[in-house]
Amino acid sequence: MRHLQPRRLTEGERAVFWRRSLDLLDLDYQTMVARAGTWTAAALGPLGAELKAASTLGCRCTYCEVNEVSDIDHLRPKSLWPQLTWCWENLVPACAYCNGRKKQARDAVLDSACDSGFREITRRKGGAVVPPPDGPTAWWSPQRRDPQLGFTLELVDDVERGRIYPRAKAPSPDHARARWTIDVLELNRAHLWRARRNSFGDYLRWLHEVVRAIGSKDQQRLARLRRELVEDKGPPFVWREMKLQRERLPELDDLLRAAPDVLTW
Ligand SMILES: [Zn+2]
Repeated sequence: MRHLQPRRLTEGERAVFWRRSLDLLDLDYQTMVARAGTWTAAALGPLGAELKAASTLGCRCTYCEVNEVSDIDHLRPKSLWPQLTWCWENLVPACAYCNGRKKQARDAVLDSACDSGFREITRRKGGAVVPPPDGPTAWWSPQRRDPQLGFTLELVDDVERGRIYPRAKAPSPDHARARWTIDVLELNRAHLWRARRNSFGDYLRWLHEVVRAIGSKDQQRLARLRRELVEDKGPPFVWREMKLQRERLPELDDLLRAAPDVLTW
């Protein structure tokens, strides 16, 4: 998951969001849920395209960093929290798979009385449409806090390399949020796990190439390699974690000592 920093809305845009939110709040809860169900990304107009473009990787999903963005997701599902349908900070550019995982009326709030640290809220099909119990969300919001604080990657163990874990120890709100987010979005599904493993290997091969280019003083090749890193070499979370965990990975540490400039690229 990556930190999402869409631009601040202008006063005019904020007014539109406020007006639409107020229109909803005039309704009773059931009608609000029904109205929220008719929301489409097209309703955002040019802001929708801009939100997708705000993904710092161009077109990669905010949650999985692997698939292409195709949808705008409501972090807290609008089927449970219809009052957040027009909350700018609740909107996240996502791939169809991650968004699909969140389409059900399923959410959780932090609750230290539960072993997991969160209490799940679900509304079954045909179940009574009533407001859920309120509480701090169990989702890790990619807009509010840098996901690097919440998640870490296994890189040292050959077999487990690429798996994502909560960074904080349990019990803690950060652990509960990361656990819930990983589990519901299935951030360790084989496709993503494999992509992160492959990306780790790609970054290592790329670093070997950088070190060779430095050795041969080939400035043109170095410039090309630098562009490759900036443009897209795979999930950036993998690269950030490689830099953080370098001391536990001797081959990587040696390469970064031989090419220290890449740390500032
Ligand atoms: Zn995704």
